[in-house]
Amino acid sequence: MSSAETVTLEGLERSWAQAIARETGIRIASCYQCLRCSNSCPVSTFMDFKPHQVVRLVQLGRRETLMSASTFWICLSCEMCTTYCPNEIDVAGLMNHLKNAVVSSRKRPAEYEIAAFQEVFIDVLKRHGRINDLQLMQRFMLKTFLHGHPPGIKALQKDLALAVELYRRDRLRLLPEHSRGAPEVRRILGHFGRKGVSS
Ligand code: SF4
Ligand code: SF4
Repeated sequence: MSSAETVTLEGLERSWAQAIARETGIRIASCYQCLRCSNSCPVSTFMDFKPHQVVRLVQLGRRETLMSASTFWICLSCEMCTTYCPNEIDVAGLMNHLKNAVVSSRKRPAEYEIAAFQEVFIDVLKRHGRINDLQLMQRFMLKTFLHGHPPGIKALQKDLALAVELYRRDRLRLLPEHSRGAPEVRRILGHFGRKGVSS
């Protein structure tokens, strides 16, 4: 199949795939499953669906399968897949779009802790314009605890030992530092704002 040829889609499947293509501008139908995206992905071995499979599932309109996948929570947004695609398909952008679709649908993310961490990270960045590790971890633990995912004792001990070591090396600020550029950071992040993750 040449890059000019496209996959034929029907009915609801076509409307979902087309809606994504329209919203994102990503040329999903042009994929001919060469696997270069998956072969270039540094974390594909940890994914339940590899990048080329995600593109194929979108082509086939397998929305429910993808909404409960962990793939895009594992994704590092490194864009290797997009760079190596011979058809200029923005696979990384597709991963991001699907991740946002899960959050918008209020469905519980397959990788809840990763989703919660990302949300808290963005909140701290918006508030201070920079990251404070202590506040980040406190808020992450509180959020996961309140949503019924308390950290285990071993994980707490490990985090505490790490925090003490960082403090000893003067790498941990107890109070958050506020960046003068915080309003600009908020403005930039506002473009990518999304709702909180569901527990
Ligand atoms: S590299 Fe591009 S064409 Fe090849 S499988 Fe991935 S998305 Fe499809
Ligand atoms: S952006 Fe995500 S899917 Fe693409 S190569 Fe990087 S980690 Fe893999």
